[in-house]
Amino acid sequence: MSGVPVVVVGAGPVGLTAALLLARRGLPVLVLERHASPYGEPRAVHLDDEALRALADAGVVGDFLQISRPALGLRLLDGHARVLAEFGRDPGAGLHGWPQASMFHQPDLEALLRAAVGAEPLVRIEHGAEVTGLSEDNGVVSVRVGDRSVPARAVLGCDGANSTVRRLIGARMRDLGRADRWLVADLRAAEPLPVWPGVHQVCDPRRAATFMPVAGDRYRFEARLAPGETAADLALGELLAPFGAGRAEVVRIAEYTYRPQVADRWRAGRVLLAGDAAHLTPPFIGQGLGLGLRDVHQVAWKLAAVLSGEARESLLDTHQAERAPHARALVRLAVLVGALMTGGGRSAAAVRRAVLAGVDRVPAVAAFATDSRTPPLRRGPLVERSGRAGRRLAGTLLPRAQVGVDGRRCPVDEVLGSGSATLSRSASGLVAFADGRRIVLDDVDGVLSEWLGSAHTVAVRPDRIIRSAV
Ligand SMILES: Cc1cc2nc3c(=O)[nH]c(=O)nc-3n(C[C@H](O)[C@H](O)[C@H](O)COP(=O)(O)OP(=O)(O)OC[C@H]3O[C@@H](n4cnc5c(N)ncnc54)[C@H](O)[C@@H]3O)c2cc1C
Repeated sequence: MSGVPVVVVGAGPVGLTAALLLARRGLPVLVLERHASPYGEPRAVHLDDEALRALADAGVVGDFLQISRPALGLRLLDGHARVLAEFGRDPGAGLHGWPQASMFHQPDLEALLRAAVGAEPLVRIEHGAEVTGLSEDNGVVSVRVGDRSVPARAVLGCDGANSTVRRLIGARMRDLGRADRWLVADLRAAEPLPVWPGVHQVCDPRRAATFMPVAGDRYRFEARLAPGETAADLALGELLAPFGAGRAEVVRIAEYTYRPQVADRWRAGRVLLAGDAAHLTPPFIGQGLGLGLRDVHQVAWKLAAVLSGEARESLLDTHQAERAPHARALVRLAVLVGALMTGGGRSAAAVRRAVLAGVDRVPAVAAFATDSRTPPLRRGPLVERSGRAGRRLAGTLLPRAQVGVDGRRCPVDEVLGSGSATLSRSASGLVAFADGRRIVLDDVDGVLSEWLGSAHTVAVRPDRIIRSAV
């Protein structure tokens, strides 16, 4: 069985990251992609620093930092482009050592993931390979591709919004809100445009819109379409002018229907869903891809543990149990933020204007508006949220703080290795138990001690999520 691969269906960003994460755990992987060449359309432009943890474990975060730039805050505007509130964001390193939020061009991310996959001997990609059927017998999944059948030890369905794998395992999407149609325009400018460098959100129910510099010479404009309206009906130049982007070159215009949805079933035997195959979210708070990267970061070690015989098959039950509530929480938050910023009619817009006046000067509101932390995972077999420390820390992500070890400075992840570990306070500082070794750490910047607070010991899972804290 050791030569039989895990099959990843779909070579989008989630499938490619999954392939790298599985290969780093020693598993051979076959990626099956129906398109003959990469899709390459720009979609996601924002990722938070928690999601970068998955890219770090996949070995590509250094390359990602080269193609991205720090996100620089949020400006809320009324329908006349007057600023209602402005929330700046510190572009410096956050809790995980990277900017709290980064802007990037999705095809650049996909290109660097493909390059990393190409350099990984354990991963093979087949293009022009559309998966049409699945059956499982005795721990082996037969994956139907054209007129052949490919054996797999497990299958990860990362095949996007219209997922075939989702249909084949009998799962359905459940709506968490109304569908919303948007125009999405990708822009470029030979000279930098005279624009504010953060995200502009137009909070006008008559024409909700978003404008933002992305990375390099790229910019993005999105506008909600009214029922029956098409992208061709909009005078783009007029809509872009208030942001100072009237002379940008429009390189692509598309219409997208955003559906807030989460699948009702994420697993059937050894077949699991991840990414857009499992959830879809509206554009507000920019979490679609981030959710998918978290899915595969959290499922890769579980799959490796089951396939190596270290863990029982039932470990895979925790995939949906942990990921679905997290996805639902963020999709609902996106729906709520969208309604608060752009919903209602004229009177709602007036109330919004009154409420937002001066709100950006309230520190708690400003902190909430720019906080990149996502909700902790719920209590379950791998998240023991008991006791004071457990309720505060279990289910959250360990900061990727810098530590000193043997006179050398490195991120704590490097010390903890790729398995489970513990981190404790001791008389001599912090002590990690990882890979059967006891390692004394110097908490050089004091980040870990501050984060631990009154907790004495935390148990850290392979995906750096805190399992328990005392
Ligand atoms: C306009 C827009 C803006 C967005 N902005 C953000 C943002 O700022 N931040 C964010 O986090 N997210 C954002 N998103 C969401 C993000 O782009 C998606 O969540 C992400 O691309 C999903 O990646 P994926 O790998 O799951 O799916 P996809 O990228 O859709 O990849 C799925 C792959 O599977 C292949 N496939 C499908 N069926 C089969 C089959 N039967 N056999 C073989 N292969 C198959 C497809 O060809 C495709 O290559 C945005 C989305 C849009 C549309």
